[in-house]
Amino acid sequence: MKNLLFAIVISISAVSIYAQTNILPTPSFVEYSEGQFVLEGNALTIKSGTFTREQLRVLETHFNTQGIQIKETDSNPVVTFFQSKVVLPEAYGIDVGDNIRISYSAAMGQFYGMVSLLQLIDHSEENVLILPKIKIEDAPQFEWRGLHMDVSRHFYTVEEVKDFIETMAMYKFNTFHWHLTDDQGWRIEIKQYPKLTEIGGYRDSTVIGHYTDTPRQYEHKKYGGFYTQEEIKEVVAFAAELHINVVPEIEMPGHSRAALAAYPELSCTGEFQNVPGLWGVFDDIYCSKEESIEFLQNVLDEVLELFPSEFIHIGGDEAPKTRWNDCSKCKNVMEQNELHDSHELQSYFIKRMDQYLTERGRKLIGWDEILEGGLSPNAAVMSWRGEAGGIEAAKQGHSVVMSPTSYCYFDYYQSSHESEPLAIGGFLPLEKVYEFNPIPADLTKEDAKFISGGQANVWTEYIPTYDQLEYMVYPRALALMQSLWCQKKPEYSEFLKVYLDFHESYLEEREVNRAASIHIPELKIERAHDGVAYSWWGLDPNEEFVLGDSYNHTLGGIFYIKNGESVQFDRGNGYHSLMLEYNGDQQITYNLHESDILGAETEMNPAPHKKYNHNASLNLVDGILGTERWKGDQWLGFNKPNVEMIIDLDTITSIDFFTIGFLNQNGSWIYLPDSMKVSVSDDRIEWTKVKEVAIEGDEIVNRIELQLNTTGQYVKVEVIPMEKIPEGRGGAGSTPWTFIDEIQIFTK
Ligand SMILES: [Zn+2]
Repeated sequence: MKNLLFAIVISISAVSIYAQTNILPTPSFVEYSEGQFVLEGNALTIKSGTFTREQLRVLETHFNTQGIQIKETDSNPVVTFFQSKVVLPEAYGIDVGDNIRISYSAAMGQFYGMVSLLQLIDHSEENVLILPKIKIEDAPQFEWRGLHMDVSRHFYTVEEVKDFIETMAMYKFNTFHWHLTDDQGWRIEIKQYPKLTEIGGYRDSTVIGHYTDTPRQYEHKKYGGFYTQEEIKEVVAFAAELHINVVPEIEMPGHSRAALAAYPELSCTGEFQNVPGLWGVFDDIYCSKEESIEFLQNVLDEVLELFPSEFIHIGGDEAPKTRWNDCSKCKNVMEQNELHDSHELQSYFIKRMDQYLTERGRKLIGWDEILEGGLSPNAAVMSWRGEAGGIEAAKQGHSVVMSPTSYCYFDYYQSSHESEPLAIGGFLPLEKVYEFNPIPADLTKEDAKFISGGQANVWTEYIPTYDQLEYMVYPRALALMQSLWCQKKPEYSEFLKVYLDFHESYLEEREVNRAASIHIPELKIERAHDGVAYSWWGLDPNEEFVLGDSYNHTLGGIFYIKNGESVQFDRGNGYHSLMLEYNGDQQITYNLHESDILGAETEMNPAPHKKYNHNASLNLVDGILGTERWKGDQWLGFNKPNVEMIIDLDTITSIDFFTIGFLNQNGSWIYLPDSMKVSVSDDRIEWTKVKEVAIEGDEIVNRIELQLNTTGQYVKVEVIPMEKIPEGRGGAGSTPWTFIDEIQIFTK
């Protein structure tokens, strides 16, 4: 596929490629000519019967948003279509001269041509439709362009799912990955096993707040729902009209507590346990015995009837082997099949499903854990735990869909601002999504052919409403699509301009909720002489912000600060509560906690992990204290033992008091260190130990306060984490993460 496409691009690439249009994803080739195409009235005519009724309805709705009507006619339409056999099925061309011509080879290209035409129209004058005279040739780089939706953790109605699919289609996504089953709810009617939805479709409580919060609190209210087979058919048919394939996911052998609540006999212990209202990974999974395999294959039989998709997703991730290791039936399966351990047993389990789907003319796809132990050649892998799984799968010749957490997890925070709704954690701003390249850098050209595309995953533990789901997806999905569609995408700044100029208001008019996080001015902190300098950077270079200091008044009350202009805060000047007003009426508050080492030179050994190294050592002395809801920029994260930090106080100083903060969020494998040592020195050669303390605390954020009463120019802090995370706790057996923020020192 890619070679053919390459030929098309080569043949047209002699002219400038990045002439700007409003079309997202950015087309491969754009060429403007002199003049405009002007049409009186607001109706675009097309030949009757060009599109199906449903397609026409969707196109009409979207053109109407732009104030344009689509009308079918039997004579001389304004928009004409030409079918050509040489272009790829999804490719299309638009030629606007004295009339509008769309070329395509298959129905999806024809549809995409109309979608791009919609974004091309500059309907600036009343009752006159204006288009630039333009030639566009376009085709996608990747064939798998997906968005995923988890309907287990939270449930969305058929109408919401269809709305989601419709917006996807307007941005040329072609794959909807429907995560239908998980621990917290089974959402697809299976006629042979009615209890799956009767019992497995509902939980009687849901955890409130973050699942790592202590103590945990629950809302004790029945929650759930499911889709009937008729509803599923309706969604699949609707998606097909919009050229979107629906890939169903039936999770196995893990993430199966909802199914096991309905049929406890399929677990290893056989004991009844309810559908959990807590998020996470659970020990109870399907037993590997023949009855469970048969059950799942029966379920798949009904799934195959409903979903024509070539690929069927079977999950395969996060399946603890605790129960299997203790189960006599599982041990029997291992013996009979000469399997050495429970990991080989997982591989055996997946292979049984692989074989079952293959015999029925389908292909298995699963999360990258399914690679462990080998797969049939036609099985595909979805790489989520970074890029390594994808690279390995491609090397083995499996088709790969890239969805690494670092670029594709839309359940992560999109800004560090406190107005962001509670999320699972992580930090994935729009700009980072834009950097995504589905082809990992260290993959050979030969192996890169196995990367079929990418997708973003939308896990919904912390997304209770459809409105919030859209907020998490847009505008990030548009940035993602640039990576999936474009041969060579324009700079982020160009994408941003097109998004802001056209698509932001388009989404607004379409009532698609979206994050306005990019509009929040970004705070930049730099070292300054004897302190730190803060500056705020908004999207509009000419914007002026209002800055007020409601606590300390060092700034003299309220004043105006230009975009990018900095304001200095000196050491030892107390506490500030800063209020920034932007965009007319929006406000942000920052709490600046000063100390006598604000902006001091600080060394760290080892360096923090690159994912959690925002602003490097300055982060430790920038006046902003790490808070509970961390979003990637407040805390420095280390995953190597014994972190050493040295702070330079400039001159030999009389030191009074010392504080340091640690994060304790075990669900994310972040633990308090075992202990900590503080030493001082006048010359960085001879060190005197001042304090050595064990670290204890029950809070998520623990600030340790030490009275030092000493003197020195250098203060050394050594942090000693526990060696390995103990059994029975999140991340057992791994090196714990240590998250540190803000060291404060107060002098006499
Ligand atoms: Zn078992």
